[in-house]
Amino acid sequence: MFEDNYRHRGMRNSLVRTISEKGISNEKVLAAIEKIPRHFFFENAFVEHAYQDKAFPIGHGQTISQPYTVAFQTQLLDVKKGDKVLEVGMGSGYQCCILMELGAKVYTIEYNKSLYQKTKKMLPQMGYVPLFFYGDGSKGLAKFAPFDKILVTAGAPYVPSILVNQLTIGGKLVIPVGTDQHQRMVCITKISKNDFVKKEFDYFSFVPLRGKHGWKN
Ligand code: SAM
Repeated sequence: MFEDNYRHRGMRNSLVRTISEKGISNEKVLAAIEKIPRHFFFENAFVEHAYQDKAFPIGHGQTISQPYTVAFQTQLLDVKKGDKVLEVGMGSGYQCCILMELGAKVYTIEYNKSLYQKTKKMLPQMGYVPLFFYGDGSKGLAKFAPFDKILVTAGAPYVPSILVNQLTIGGKLVIPVGTDQHQRMVCITKISKNDFVKKEFDYFSFVPLRGKHGWKN
């Protein structure tokens, strides 16, 4: 069902070169991108698009994020082997596979039911079995908190404090924050129960975060 031939691997290799030239330097992140066949997340007719550095529609008004963006967020998150990571916005599942390649135990939550069902079926067929959740990830996943890392892959209007509360001390939250069109990448490191350090990075363009702490429906 899934074919990954020398042509795909060649295209993947040049994608890795592209994102490394754009500034991604974490070797483990680059190795994960080199390893995971991004074209498995595309319909056959669109395979040619899989190894361009761009976002692509995955149906239901959602997108698989641009590879550079996936790499940028993952690099900021600084995933260590064994980290317990919450991903808000599973979408196609591509980012989830990258996190798992880095050795994370991933809890991934998706708001769109059709996407949730489709990805929950497909990832295990590729050999990736995270913990799947359907629902509003803008509230986090209190029942399974705390998390070492939380990654939000949709654009939020503000940093939900409920997510910061679900971090371990030393934990990191990476979240794009801004309007429903453009967001600035934000990385929050929790340094004690009530203190955190906030760093801001470049602008990106994500689909809107929905739910209680998102752009509603
Ligand atoms: N990580 C995804 C990937 O690798 O394909 C990126 C997916 S897309 C940029 C963002 C996803 O966030 C969409 O699938 C969308 O349905 C989902 N989403 C939006 N609001 C959400 C929420 N409150 N909780 C969980 N998922 C949400």
